[in-house]
Amino acid sequence: MAWATASAAILLAMFDRSRHNIARWLTLSMGSILVIFAAAIYYQRVADRLAQSDRLLYSKARVMAANVEYKTRSQQEQINLSHVPYLGRYSPPLDSSLSYARWYTLTGQLLQFYGSQPPDLLTAGAAFETVELDAVRLRQLTLPVTAGEQTIGYLQIAMPLTQTETDLRNFLWVLVVAVPLGLGLISLTSWLLGGLAMRPIQQAYRQLQRFTADASHELRAPLAAVLSNAQVGLLAPVDQGEAKHTRLENIAELTKSMNVLVGNLLFLARRAGRLTPDLIKPVNLNRLLKDIHTSPSVQEAGQHVTLKLMLPDEAIVVQGNADLLHQAILNLVTNACKYTAEGGLVWMRLVGLYHCNLIQVEDTGVGIPPEDLPHIFERFYRVDQERTRKKGGSGLGLAIAQQIVEAHGGRLTVTSQMGKGSLFQIELPL
Ligand code: ADP
Repeated sequence: MAWATASAAILLAMFDRSRHNIARWLTLSMGSILVIFAAAIYYQRVADRLAQSDRLLYSKARVMAANVEYKTRSQQEQINLSHVPYLGRYSPPLDSSLSYARWYTLTGQLLQFYGSQPPDLLTAGAAFETVELDAVRLRQLTLPVTAGEQTIGYLQIAMPLTQTETDLRNFLWVLVVAVPLGLGLISLTSWLLGGLAMRPIQQAYRQLQRFTADASHELRAPLAAVLSNAQVGLLAPVDQGEAKHTRLENIAELTKSMNVLVGNLLFLARRAGRLTPDLIKPVNLNRLLKDIHTSPSVQEAGQHVTLKLMLPDEAIVVQGNADLLHQAILNLVTNACKYTAEGGLVWMRLVGLYHCNLIQVEDTGVGIPPEDLPHIFERFYRVDQERTRKKGGSGLGLAIAQQIVEAHGGRLTVTSQMGKGSLFQIELPL
């Protein structure tokens, strides 16, 4: 008992660890995706806002450049900036959004400016760039201004990035709050999903554990009997041939039952899931039931009862495996005979319905208590341990039958009345 509690605790810890691992890895992977996604969105936003300011800066520069007057008088170039917004004497600024505006000659000499005192020589190339002035970041554009084909000077204007930076900072704050919140949600969901994912595994593991425990228990009893028979046999004097023979017979009998049990266990272990296509062939159910009815094992099991076979006139053929179906029906029929008293009746019926084919095995036997009905298809489940053991059952017959029927895409059901009998039905798809 202590061992069972300890193993349950180990199992629980193991599943808990696996659940933690699932949650951790899911959070880590989904979280990384979220962070990468948020970073991509942020950089896209930065690029968009910068492009927006550049477009605005360029349009202002174009308006200013359009107001530059250029003349050549007696081979002398004359540039008049008086109508250029910000730089002109007469024209008021377009608005006060520019931090500065500068006009440089072709040789890079400063000619006129608005705003803070600029360097006398043009330093930047013709492009957009981000510069810093009095701890304020600005977006600056240096635009070569042309008249016809000829460049006549350089216009340099700059706009503060304060609004853009405030917007981006606000957006970053939203991300800083939203991403950890998202991560929290992801980890919570991962934890719940981990629990959901573990549930069927946990269930399967428990079933497997119970199955292994039952199987070892089932094998231990006959093994102990085999051992005691052999030991008693060895203790007997050498000339006691009769007693030894009985012991050997017992050993052979027990070994046979163990063989059947191990065979059944192997069958259950190997044949899980749906049938593979190579096992599926047309099966004539009429012929199959006739074969089972006349088989020596059924004739032997049904010596004390009346076995009736009821078949339709026309042959019913299904896609499946004849050997497996034979095994499933045989298990039902031998059970029906086993649990029916002397003089009782056992029917084997085949019925073709419009939506399925029905194989019925009905008896007038002892019946199954209603509280046991939901469990009788479980492996090693016996209604009455003593009664069934005496009849040589291992509690695997119905589990095998159910596994076979389900492998055919069918259903095995039971109805029973105590003291009146039981009806097992196999529904096979058309
Ligand atoms: P076993 O090999 O022990 O018979 P099964 O899996 O075939 O195991 O059956 C499980 C239990 O269902 C048995 O313990 C038996 O008591 C009960 N059972 C099965 N078939 C019948 C039946 N036709 N009538 C009454 N009880 C039945």
